[in-house]
Amino acid sequence: MRSKIVAGNWKMNKTLEEAQTLTSELLGMIADEVKGDVKVVLCTPFPYLYPVKQQLGATRIAVGAQNCSEHASGAYTGETSAAMLKSMNVPYVILGHSERRQYFGEDSKLLVKKTDIALANGLTPIFCCGEPLEVREKNGHEQLVKQQVEEALFHLLAETIQKVVIAYEPVWAIGTGKTATAAQAQAMHAVIRKHLAGKYGTSVANEISILYGGSVNAANAKELFANPDVDGGLVGGASLKSREFTEIIKSI
Ligand code: PEP
Repeated sequence: MRSKIVAGNWKMNKTLEEAQTLTSELLGMIADEVKGDVKVVLCTPFPYLYPVKQQLGATRIAVGAQNCSEHASGAYTGETSAAMLKSMNVPYVILGHSERRQYFGEDSKLLVKKTDIALANGLTPIFCCGEPLEVREKNGHEQLVKQQVEEALFHLLAETIQKVVIAYEPVWAIGTGKTATAAQAQAMHAVIRKHLAGKYGTSVANEISILYGGSVNAANAKELFANPDVDGGLVGGASLKSREFTEIIKSI
């Protein structure tokens, strides 16, 4: 059975004090209100991973990084390695977010290396894919997303790809307040799962969690998460507010 996951991507937001306040609010709300077996992940900025993890303790909430280096170690000033994340028991890492692709030039070739090094260190990659608006307008979205998944992940063995979480995030919906409709999300998730099934077989494809991301909020989460191929969400802006994020988690 694939996992239901709601991950918050804090991006480059919050001071340490604000991060700890948000964490403490979430701890209380989630303990009191979230019942099922949904996994919750807080993808904090690097400096907050350790203090937030300490604060969370042994709860259902895990931390995740927003990126890692493709290199193992060495003279790469400003970078954070997968081994460092492993040494802090950080279980998740977002890879290939559209902001990394757009502002830092990350491409499939690089994402192969990052995915491999993350997996080699026992991390669960949350691999992001998704099309820009101009591609959707030309009806090229399915082709592009299949290509992104294939180029970055299809070198993996069947037993290894099952350790990856995929996040479909249409670029036009990220931080814009414009959400894909539930039907658009389901359609693309089904395309991704079918593509995975074509390469690895249905039983492997059915084990892989596919999250939707792009302006998920408390008002639209239920409808998005109700789709059979939507296994949760990767949430940006709305994950910075404890009440809103808790309501999103409860929508699954
Ligand atoms: C994201 O950053 O992954 C994201 C989906 O952002 P937002 O929810 O703000 O659109």
